[in-house]
Amino acid sequence: MGVTHVVFLGPPGVGKGTQAVRCAQALHVPQISTGDMFRAARGQDSDLGRQVKDIMDRGDLVPDDVVIAVVADRLQQDDATPGFILDGFPRTVPQADALSSILSDQSRSLEAVVSLSAPPATILARLGGRRTCAQCNASFHVTGNPPRTAGVCDHCGTPLIIRKDDEESAIRTRLETYEANTAPLIEYYRAAGVLREVQGGGNVEEVATRVADALA
Ligand code: AMP
Repeated sequence: MGVTHVVFLGPPGVGKGTQAVRCAQALHVPQISTGDMFRAARGQDSDLGRQVKDIMDRGDLVPDDVVIAVVADRLQQDDATPGFILDGFPRTVPQADALSSILSDQSRSLEAVVSLSAPPATILARLGGRRTCAQCNASFHVTGNPPRTAGVCDHCGTPLIIRKDDEESAIRTRLETYEANTAPLIEYYRAAGVLREVQGGGNVEEVATRVADALA
């Protein structure tokens, strides 16, 4: 894989987070998930956490200026100098524009955008079965990617939970929000010449192989 400045794009439940973690390990760059950062902020009862809590629970988007400030700060940290996998950012055209100017201020640019897609039925099944570690954010699926011991995180032994935004009404909002705000980024990045489209159906290993091929 020659590229190290990468965005993972795709609807909720497509397997973006799982693939982003694996890809980041393979490329030796940090996986930067804005969703994980906001969940961590919530857990610490910080100003940011209070600001985003209700928005996240509903499945709505955090305001662009808040997200952009968080990402701008994160991309300046030393570990992101060699590159990054952005997972869950950008999610709107203004965020994509902001990313491009943050990177150009740092004399670099995005090299690839992996667009993962899957049929709606696959996405709904994945979201319904998702279980998340409240401690380390690792993500599992009751049938597709089960933990070694049912209900317990493989990495830290913490009991797994169903995220509040994986409940049914929030899932509906998240899918609608994705279509309205985020799906237009596929054409945005196609026009920029960096789009790499990958089918997200199948098991984790199969998709990981397709992602690696798309980035080779
Ligand atoms: P995720 O784990 O990526 O599904 O993100 C969980 C939640 O965090 C989303 O439903 C949003 O409320 C919020 N969030 C994460 N990333 C963004 C973003 N780039 N823009 C706006 N809201 C975000």
